[in-house]
Amino acid sequence: MESGPHVRTWAAPAKINLALHVTGRRPDGYHLIESLAVFTRFGDRIEIAPAEGDDFTVSGRYAPDVPPDGDNLVLKARDALRQAAGLRSTPPVIIRLEKNLPVASGVGGGSSDAAAVLRGLADSWGLDIARAELARIGLSLGADVPMCLAAKPLVARGIGEELSMVADFSALGLVLVNPGTPVSTAEIFAALSRRDNEPLPPLPRSIEFHSLRNWLEITRNDLEPAALAMRPAIGRALSWLDKAGSGFSRMSGSGATCFGLFETGNVAKRAAAEIRSRQPDWFVAATRSIASEAE
Ligand code: ATP
Repeated sequence: MESGPHVRTWAAPAKINLALHVTGRRPDGYHLIESLAVFTRFGDRIEIAPAEGDDFTVSGRYAPDVPPDGDNLVLKARDALRQAAGLRSTPPVIIRLEKNLPVASGVGGGSSDAAAVLRGLADSWGLDIARAELARIGLSLGADVPMCLAAKPLVARGIGEELSMVADFSALGLVLVNPGTPVSTAEIFAALSRRDNEPLPPLPRSIEFHSLRNWLEITRNDLEPAALAMRPAIGRALSWLDKAGSGFSRMSGSGATCFGLFETGNVAKRAAAEIRSRQPDWFVAATRSIASEAE
């Protein structure tokens, strides 16, 4: 991607639901959840530069899978922010999306792109806009956009918009594996047999590899059984993570991306290389999560 005095790049991290309990349903049909989520160094990238007229381009491995037009959450985020800016100046921009995250894969790529655009354009346009207002605009685009705006370890409740940040959460070594089958979130929620599961247990006091692994053992992703039944490849992704030495493996969101937890970044890289060599067509990424104290 280009760089220059007026060009700025914004990270759009992957969102990983380490645990996800479905606890109820609102009268309007939205599901109530409780989720411990982290965000990763690996993700999409958004580049914003001033231009003569508005423009949008998409590059990267998964560019062919995203809508290149007004259906893209990038443009929806730009337009929503422009509308919220009212009479304030919002000059034309070119937005370049580098799409590195698989689409419809449970890692919130579209939501994270939207969040990066809101953050980036608020900065480019010099809008004095409160965090809460940005989160409100984000929520109008999708339930996961507010958590992607926060992009630090957190517990999300409600439909995903009630956020409690988690302190003292160290960076984790993670391997992300997607066997290449897109999953529609709506389809998985519709297939759930129970929607009134118990909430998350209390978090450990300080979170690192061992305490987290013990806690994860007593939690669930309530979407995983339905997704596994519909997409058996998810089970194969989980087995590969286990075989490669993951301390704990689970599906994120509504799938099909699965994560494995590793004690160090180097072990995660070796595991990712092993899985990649056996499954060259799959999406496999070794990464680290963003710690709660990260800049
Ligand atoms: P979530 O975990 O929030 O359900 P996901 O990771 O499963 O998200 P996304 O990759 O965000 O799913 O894609 C969901 C849908 O949004 C896709 O059907 C896709 O066509 C549409 N979409 C629009 N804009 C984007 C974008 N920038 N990136 C990815 N998908 C997008």
